[in-house]
Amino acid sequence: MELHNSAAEIYVPDGSPVNVALSRTTHLGVSAHQDDLEIMAYHGILECFGKSDKGFTGVTITNGSGSPRDGLYGNYTDEEMQVVRRKEQKKAAYVGEYAAHVFLHYSSNAVKDPGNFDVVGDLKQIIAASKPQVIYTHNLADKHDTHVATTLRVIRALRELPGDSRPQRLYGCEVWRNLDWLNDNDKVVFNVEAHENLAMSLVGVFDSQVSGGKRYDLATMGRRRANATYLASHGVDESTSLIFGTDLTPLMHDDKLDAGEYVQGFIDRFAKEVSGRIAKLS
Ligand SMILES: [Zn+2]
Repeated sequence: MELHNSAAEIYVPDGSPVNVALSRTTHLGVSAHQDDLEIMAYHGILECFGKSDKGFTGVTITNGSGSPRDGLYGNYTDEEMQVVRRKEQKKAAYVGEYAAHVFLHYSSNAVKDPGNFDVVGDLKQIIAASKPQVIYTHNLADKHDTHVATTLRVIRALRELPGDSRPQRLYGCEVWRNLDWLNDNDKVVFNVEAHENLAMSLVGVFDSQVSGGKRYDLATMGRRRANATYLASHGVDESTSLIFGTDLTPLMHDDKLDAGEYVQGFIDRFAKEVSGRIAKLS
């Protein structure tokens, strides 16, 4: 596989050849940054953990340059931060027993540039080689530009691939904006209560972010707990930890379906539910 950037890398935690590792993939996560997958795609990691017939492969599109830094990392240069963040992502891939982790090493600006087709080209190669059943990426209502750009590149790559290389499902998941606001029948609900220790480890290894001033570890575990408790107002909690997603599969199959209009549908249904309740009770 010829990836565009010379600093791109495919890391295989168990040391298997890359083609073997990728062909073991059943669940693929594509994220903008190091640590996003452990926050949003933990369902896929958990589904594959310890299973001989399933494999999770992660893809990180950006190089980690420009990350916030403080404390131990306060004086690190951009180049040093890129090294640290790649190392942390490899730790997560090892702990989570990923089949492989692909570092594409793009700048955020390259990902956000709609005229840059290199990211799409790399994604097409990875998806064609791994043929996952499920892909997790960012949700289209996320508030981080690089996250939303990542999802748009994933959709474009899938549309350009033949049908037999496409997964059965494409999900957009939570990082920068949760999905609690979605109407319940628009939510894809992932139960991730198993192996809580693993979940905590995976969000905890990103020390440069957590000790650098952002408690993503506590916030992520807290969000999952809150999702589980606040999903339904009647009855007892059926899970202690949930991740919410949106089903983006229709965007993969229908070239004419506009991503903005598609996410607007979720927003419109939410608005209707809120105003409908107020009208009913007034
Ligand atoms: Zn991110």
